[in-house]
Formats: sequence, C-alpha cells, structure tokens
Amino acid sequence: MTETIEAPAAVKPINHWISGSPYSGQSGRTGAVYNPATGQQSGEVDLASVEEVDKAVQAAKAAFPAWRSTSLAKKAELFFRIRELLHERREEMARILTAEHGKVLSDAMGEVTRGLEVIEFCCGLPHLLKGAMTEQASTGIDVYSIKQPLGVVGGITPFNFPAMVPMWMWAPAIACGNAFVLKPSEKDPSASVFTAELLKEAGLPDGVFNVVHGDKVAVDALLEHPDVSAISFVGSTPIAKYVYERATAQGKRCQALGGAKNHMIVLPDADIDMAADAAVSAAYGSAGERCMAVSAVIAVGEVADPLVQAIKDRIPNVKVGAGTDPSSEMGPLITKEHRDKVASYIGDEGEVVVDGREACPADGFFLGATLIDHVTPDMKAYRDEIFGPVLGVTRVSTYEEAVRLVNENPYGNGTAIFTRDGGVARQFQFDVQAGMVGVNVPIPVPVAYYSFGGWKASLFGDRHIYGPEGIDFYTRSKVVTARWPDPATSSVDLGFPQTR
Ligand code: NAD
Repeated sequence: MTETIEAPAAVKPINHWISGSPYSGQSGRTGAVYNPATGQQSGEVDLASVEEVDKAVQAAKAAFPAWRSTSLAKKAELFFRIRELLHERREEMARILTAEHGKVLSDAMGEVTRGLEVIEFCCGLPHLLKGAMTEQASTGIDVYSIKQPLGVVGGITPFNFPAMVPMWMWAPAIACGNAFVLKPSEKDPSASVFTAELLKEAGLPDGVFNVVHGDKVAVDALLEHPDVSAISFVGSTPIAKYVYERATAQGKRCQALGGAKNHMIVLPDADIDMAADAAVSAAYGSAGERCMAVSAVIAVGEVADPLVQAIKDRIPNVKVGAGTDPSSEMGPLITKEHRDKVASYIGDEGEVVVDGREACPADGFFLGATLIDHVTPDMKAYRDEIFGPVLGVTRVSTYEEAVRLVNENPYGNGTAIFTRDGGVARQFQFDVQAGMVGVNVPIPVPVAYYSFGGWKASLFGDRHIYGPEGIDFYTRSKVVTARWPDPATSSVDLGFPQTR
C-alpha cells in the first residue's frame, strides 16, 4: 500500500523501498531533511516502525531463495548492467548527494566513482566465490570447500558518504547471493532510494534490495530481528560499539566501523609544499566530514614553523560555498547543530592561526577552514574526532614521540607519514597501529580489491569491509568430503559449452 505523506509545500516526501517499490511509511513519524547550503528543509523522510522493518525483512527473506539459486553467470551479467547504469547516471547521483549532504559536486562525483569501483570488483563474483578443491585427499575421496550466502543481511550507514558506504555493503552482499535491507542515514536518505530505482531498472529481482529509513527504532528492529543473519555498520564509535554488542548478542555476524582521529606525521625532511597541500586537501575536503580526514598534523622538529605557515598561506584560497557552485571547493556541514559543535572547538585551547568562523556564507550550515597550532594531547580538540574543518597541529621533537601519539590514540583508522626517507617510512608501516597507512598519501582509502577498515575503536568485529574480507563477511564456507562410484551416465552435446 502506498500513499503520499503530507508534507509542507516544496518539501519532498522520501519513502521506504520495499519489494521493488516505494513504500510510504505508516508509522506517523517523519524526519526533516535539509539542504545544508541554504539551511532550508528540502525533504521529509519516513521513519520506520518495527513492523515496517519486519516488512522489509520479510520481502528480503521471500526474495532470497530465488536469488541465491540464480547462477553466478546471470548474477555477474546483472552486476555489469548495474555498473553501466550507475556509471551513466553518476552525475544525477552526485547532484542528489550535493543537495542533501552539501559536499561540492566534484567531491560527490569522486564518492560515486569510488563506490563504483566496489561494484566493478563485484562484477568478478564468479571468481570471488570460487572454493578450493583437493583431489584424492584419501583414496577415492575428494574434499572441497564452497562459499554460501548468509540469507538476509542488514546495513546501517552514516550521513557522510550516502552513496559510497552503502555500496561497500550492498554490492558484495548481493553479489554473494544475500538479500539486503539498508537503513541509511536519515539526514541524507535520497541517494539510497535512487540506488534502489537503478537496481530495479538494471533488473535486480524485487526484494533483493530494500531500504528502510529511520532512527534508533529501525536500527534496533534490525538488530533484534531473528531473520537477519548479519549486520554491517558504519558510523560513530559509540553507536558502532552498541550495534556490535547488540547484534552479536543476538548471534548475528557483525562488522561495525567507527570513528577516527587520523594523524598525519610530517618529518623534518619532508617536502613542505607537498605536505601542506596534502594537509589542506585531507583536512578540509568534504568540510572534514570524512572518516579518513586528517584532523591532527604531527609536526616533528623544525618542520613545524614553515609547515604551519604553508598551511596558513593556502587556507584563504579554499573557496567555501554551495556545492552546486562549480567554483566551490568546500561545502557546508550537515546540520546546524553539527556546525555549532565543530565551531565550539575554536578559541578555547591552542593557538588559533585561522578562524573559520570568519568570512563564510551567512546562510546554510557553513564553517570555514580552521587551523589551530600548539594543540597538546590533553586538549579536547586533540582527543575528540571533531568531524569538521578544524585542523590541529601538535608539535613533537622526534619520530618516536610522533608514532607514540598515533599508537596511544584510542582510534586506529587511517594515518600517514610525509618524508623522503624510505627507511623511516618502512619502519612507520611496521610500527604504527592503524588499519590504513599512507606514505606521502594523506587519505589512504584502499582500492576496491583490498579491504577497508581500522583498528582499535575504529572497528568492532573481525572483518574489514568490501574487497576480499567483504566477500568473507557475506559468505560462510562449507567443506564437502565426497566419494563417488564411476560415472554411469552421460550424454552427447556437440554445442560449444556455455555457462548456465
Ligand atoms: P552516527 O553513528 O550518528 O550514525 C550512523 C548510523 O547509526 C545512522 O544510520 C543513524 O541513524 C544510526 N544511529 C544514530 N544514533 C543511533 C542510536 N542511538 N542507536 C542506533 N542507531 C543510531 O554517525 P554519523 O554522524 O551519521 O556519521 C559520522 C560518523 O561516522 C563519524 O564518527 C565517522 O568517523 C564515522 N564514519 C566511519 C567510517 C569508517 O569507515 N570507519 C566511514 C564513514 C563514517
């Protein structure tokens, strides 16, 4: 049953997607979606009830047997169609991201492109799902392993990558033969609905991909649902921990990726201009709302003064404005509350070198690039993730002190070192306690055929997301030990053998 919900004029209703069609929420609860560049409400999203989550899970459960049985050849063909369609419509997707998240269009295109890489990886699903075979393990006995899907799996995603992070989940989950229920961020939910429309257009059977919008009620309903076998989560650390503990207590498989405090170490021998370019790009891109954003520069020895100067010199050139304006490089933050929280880090501690509260657009949820020098590890601006365009510089004397800071930090998502010394870089890669390491690369998000994930409080669970570990996460293996008599029957077929 679908009917349009009542919403103020020009405010778009955003509905769930269940069993291949939009489903207008019946819970009576909705959430406001904003255009962060104007501060105006643009949408009203349904917030699911427990019953609506169950409806989506039942749709997935009903679709699972046929999808699971569909041959790998047909699934791969469908994935190529999905890839082509998303590629053709990538600019449309990017515009949806800019409208609700606020990131500038070029950044939104980058998000879609990186997400597409995961889909491209999944086009190789027949290869990815190959098992192992041992002939004659015992006399007349062969042993082989097969990978099978889990059933209905759920994904819960954050606001900051409304298209890419869901792709990290649904693409491998579906490629492995599971049926999927996505609970995207309620702050920018339209990209998920657009994805659902494209998947249907590509030919994905109804019910294999479902979207339920919502808040804690929907998340808890997924975590508690007996027919959901596994949960992938990406978001902040407290919620990741909560999701992991609650899902695993229900016997579900769970990977829950949390927040970050990514340190970029700059050694005295680094190229200052290159390091400053990298720090500005990685700290202020997407207004610092990336889990791989650099928010702490650790300046070692005499590099500090020239590095701070070089970063300061670059900040006035970062053009802050609406994401739809092609000249903008940095858009607004996601909500007014979040902007105000991020701005609250400016002023109290450290030495403010550039104050982003000055000279940024008055409407919308903007905050300019901010630089704070002389940040020490006891300060809130150092301890907290912040998740906005506020970069702190911490000065230390030695490489050892710098690495100790990274290793003592509770988070362990990404980190980077800037140096011309290959030996030190190699030692850093050996020493550092983080899941993703950059050597003269500030945002080392792994390519799609590796897996993405942090250490410590940046990941709860055993498996990283997408890539080979994503395939492991969404399958379980079975080992068959078989003995066969001689073949008794066969038939003649002169046609060229085809996959069926
Ligand atoms: P969030 O934790 O507030 O929300 C993530 C999801 O959890 C959303 O779908 C939300 O509806 C749901 N949620 C929120 N509160 C909940 C509650 N009390 N109970 C149950 N569910 C709840 O995160 P966010 O603000 O949307 O995203 C930003 C955070 O995500 C940052 O901390 C960032 O570092 C992190 N992040 C991490 C990665 C990674 O790969 N490690 C990637 C992107 C974002």
